[in-house]
Amino acid sequence: MAAHEFGHVLGIGDAYNAWYRGGTFLNQDGYYAPKDSVVYYNDERYEVWTPDDDMMITNQNVSANDIRMVLDAWRTGKPQFFEWGSRDWDSR
Ligand SMILES: [Zn+2]
Repeated sequence: MAAHEFGHVLGIGDAYNAWYRGGTFLNQDGYYAPKDSVVYYNDERYEVWTPDDDMMITNQNVSANDIRMVLDAWRTGKPQFFEWGSRDWDSR
């Protein structure tokens, strides 16, 4: 949980279906981050992964994508948010 909260301090959002990801506050029925996404740097395409045990979903492990997003937050001076995937955990 400390890593999760420190992720916010370093500029990245939640990957679970938090209320501000399209759901209601009590139910947290919004959108999970997708397992795979595509990002572009200098017109180069990269696939990134948000694993089920990502610290921003389940408070477990720091992923390479988390580190990428922290570096982007530092580089751009703007918070970084995970894409909205599915509301359904099994198909995110
Ligand atoms: Zn959080």
